[in-house]
Amino acid sequence: MGHCPNCKQKVSLANVKTEVKGLVVIKQERMYMCPFCENMLGFAIMQK
Ligand SMILES: [Zn+2]
Repeated sequence: MGHCPNCKQKVSLANVKTEVKGLVVIKQERMYMCPFCENMLGFAIMQK
């Protein structure tokens, strides 16, 4: 995991906010947001 480029807070899978976009679709996109400033961190960047 890493740090939010906006507020420099430490962001991990334990505290990252996720928003799942799409309803019942084949492939869901997970959007990660910083829990501190709600800066968008990207799509599914933390799945590896
Ligand atoms: Zn942030």
